[in-house]
Amino acid sequence: MKLTEHLATAKDTIISFEILPPTKGKGIESIFSHLDLLMEFNPAFINVTYHRAEQVYKKRPDNSFERVEIRKRPGTVGICAALMHRYKIEAIPHIICGGFSKEETENALIDLNFLGVRNILALRGDAAANEKFFTPHPAGHRYAEDLVKQVINLNNGQYLEDDIMDGGKTDFCIGVAGYPEKHYESPNMDTDIYYLKKKIEYGAHYVTTQMFFRNEHYYNYVNRCREHGVDVPIIPGLKPLTTKRQMTMIPSIFNVEVPVELYDEMMKAKNEKDCEKIGEDWLLEQCKDLLKNKAPILHFYTLGKPHVIYNVLKRLL
Ligand code: FAD
Repeated sequence: MKLTEHLATAKDTIISFEILPPTKGKGIESIFSHLDLLMEFNPAFINVTYHRAEQVYKKRPDNSFERVEIRKRPGTVGICAALMHRYKIEAIPHIICGGFSKEETENALIDLNFLGVRNILALRGDAAANEKFFTPHPAGHRYAEDLVKQVINLNNGQYLEDDIMDGGKTDFCIGVAGYPEKHYESPNMDTDIYYLKKKIEYGAHYVTTQMFFRNEHYYNYVNRCREHGVDVPIIPGLKPLTTKRQMTMIPSIFNVEVPVELYDEMMKAKNEKDCEKIGEDWLLEQCKDLLKNKAPILHFYTLGKPHVIYNVLKRLL
């Protein structure tokens, strides 16, 4: 079922999770053990992130270096198929522009369509580790809006090759990313929302947000999007902060605020367990408030901490 259909018919709060593929070499069991715990809460969807290949330098026996391309977390499409098979659930693969030609993207979409995947999240992706700014693949897309256009073309049976007549139509429901505290490259919030609106005008059906730790950021963002005419569902992305290190790391990577009350509490924590409990309590309060304010879905970034999300949901529902 498409996410938008689910939203239109659901009676209770919808729960969904995002997971990362395991690092290369690890088995699918690490994903299953992570998710088995959370299935008690009947998630409607599980998002699976996509990770671009990175250029790394490897030392040769003669001490010279060679540049090789390595994808540390492959397997998004395979994991989606495995989740759909094991849990009879909708999997939402993330599709990124970075590192992909349009042709490779089209082929990936064809694979997903054949597998019965009905939802995708269309993203630009970040700059490669060796780049300061995002550089598109020479035959790929610069912005997520171009990727949205490609998926919509496929939904209309238009393939990259002009001579494919009467091409089979896909029927993907398309999500895109939104940033309650603004995307780090954007000069201001209005410009960011202007480009978000473009993604919707080109055909995207809903927005999933970057994590935030103050609900006011999400509420203000939704209001501002509505003022700009963005009228699709805006799904809040939620993550527990569970270590002192994250207090500085998360804002620097994701351009999000860590509220001073949370920061102060965390700094007083004596051990790891205390930190997790503080993050859990904070997230629980966020969730209660979001439910009170009728957020359409609670979407959790599980990122290796399924037990924290489990505790939050057990106390919440
Ligand atoms: P875009 O919508 O293309 O926007 C990028 C920037 O360009 C913004 O500042 C925007 O305002 C601006 N912009 C957009 N269109 C134009 C235009 N036409 N002209 C000028 N400026 C423009 N990354 C991954 O690699 N893999 C993942 O699985 C992944 N999952 C994510 C899931 C969520 C929910 C979120 C919020 C992010 C995720 N990311 C992921 C990170 C994301 O790829 C980065 O934040 C990336 O920097 C921007 O992606 P985007 O799709 O928002 O890009």
